[in-house]
Amino acid sequence: MAGTVEGATSTASAVVRCDTCGAKNRVPPVAEGVRRCGKCHNPLPWIVPADDSSFDAVAVGARLPVLVDLWATWCGPCRAVSPALEQVARRLAGRLKLVKVEVDTSPAQALEAWVEQALALQ
Ligand SMILES: [Zn+2]
Repeated sequence: MAGTVEGATSTASAVVRCDTCGAKNRVPPVAEGVRRCGKCHNPLPWIVPADDSSFDAVAVGARLPVLVDLWATWCGPCRAVSPALEQVARRLAGRLKLVKVEVDTSPAQALEAWVEQALALQ
């Protein structure tokens, strides 16, 4: 699982607003360590999308604990839960990575891999 982040170019950077100073920051889906605000250097909430091709690099290879938000446009409960998860990600900025996966377009395969890995870590 360690390391190779090259090749994870299919997902664009997300723009995240700094809760401390309000500056907008580009947050790459795959990076080493903690994302910090370019202006005030406080940890940023790390909320990024992942799909089939990027899930391994974005989530499985992450250095921080990963929370996976599985959502779908047709799923009412998902839409209710997502903002709560984003709040958690903001509160735990620098300590948690929130990865949003749209189940319609994504990764039975990658999710299986992730669940296996999560179980292996127990
Ligand atoms: Zn800031």
